[in-house]
Amino acid sequence: MTLLNHQIHLAKRPTGLPDKTTFQFVEEKIGEPQAGQVLIKTLYVSVDPYMRGRMEDAESYVEPYQLHEVIAGGVIGEVIESASEHYEKGDVVTGMYGWQEYYIASEQEIRKVDPSIAPISAHLGILGMTGLTAYFGLLHIGKPKAGETIVVSGAAGAVGSAVGQIAKIKGARVVGIAGSDEKAAYLKETLQFDEVINYRTTTKIEEAIKKACPDGVDVYFDNVGGPIADAVLTQINRHARMVVCGAISAYNIQEPDIGPRVQTTLIKKSALIQGFTVGDFSKHFLEGAAQLGTWLQEGKLQYRETIQEGFDQIPDAFLDLFKGKNIGKLVVKVADRQFEAKQ
Ligand code: NDP
Repeated sequence: MTLLNHQIHLAKRPTGLPDKTTFQFVEEKIGEPQAGQVLIKTLYVSVDPYMRGRMEDAESYVEPYQLHEVIAGGVIGEVIESASEHYEKGDVVTGMYGWQEYYIASEQEIRKVDPSIAPISAHLGILGMTGLTAYFGLLHIGKPKAGETIVVSGAAGAVGSAVGQIAKIKGARVVGIAGSDEKAAYLKETLQFDEVINYRTTTKIEEAIKKACPDGVDVYFDNVGGPIADAVLTQINRHARMVVCGAISAYNIQEPDIGPRVQTTLIKKSALIQGFTVGDFSKHFLEGAAQLGTWLQEGKLQYRETIQEGFDQIPDAFLDLFKGKNIGKLVVKVADRQFEAKQ
């Protein structure tokens, strides 16, 4: 069986916001798996803000993408041919092999996911990288206590919506900052956030945060950086913890990202500011995923996905992240399972 594989490569390094010329669709034949390998058909592809950073030729916590190579990232796929003792046709697996329809993987590059816990795409979101980011960033760095006030930005996104709910599980008062009234309604009515600020319609963000947080801010989970983070900083309490998870407002800017200096505030408030990447907690991923799965099954945690359909939609879906078009985890569905019977 010789299949045609479609891939999406990095065609050129973007300046500012990427566009369609950043990406190139490529077609190639894919061979047969050799001993210890499996042939995987892609079912769902993850698009994530951090991928923008990998398009730069700059040192970071992860290697830059190379020009004219596949854009790597999280994928859920189905084994359709196996030359491995550990995998069989119909196994649902996850790996980081990126934006391509098929992939021949070695056993070490993939792991099985349990399709019985939740729909399989959830392993790219609430049970995968973004859920774990929320879990470890909030609990290990933010350390919310019952009765404290937590502010989370990017609140209706994959990480932010999980952060707010986990903070509620821990008994905190949760204030979300998000970019539309639809998102605000979802966070308040469905996820029971205590207050939500629509930063796109609020002209005085600092005042809005002050009003939503009459007792000040104890934990700020920052997904966006920029002026929103600057405004939250003015409202922090003594011993506040600021968890720097992401800075999406800065990912496409071309000028240096300069804001107010933070030292004096940190000293006056004996406050902590700490960045992290989810990989810092890789030794504990199993524990985190198990807890997230339990909360999901107990109904304490909910999740939403924005699912775009079609392999050719992947670049547009990625760009939608920067336009705020998603609620919850943004994934692209590429194909249906062939071997549903295994589920
Ligand atoms: P989201 O699902 O939150 O999607 C991105 C959201 O960011 C958009 O929906 C949009 O929502 C918001 N946004 C886009 N541009 C801006 C802007 N200029 N200012 C403010 N908000 C903006 O993505 P994720 O949940 O996957 O990621 C959230 C953040 O966490 C990102 O910064 C990401 O890089 C980071 N991250 C960090 C990890 C780590 O290990 N440290 C791991 C995973 C993610 P809105 O409508 O509200 O503007």
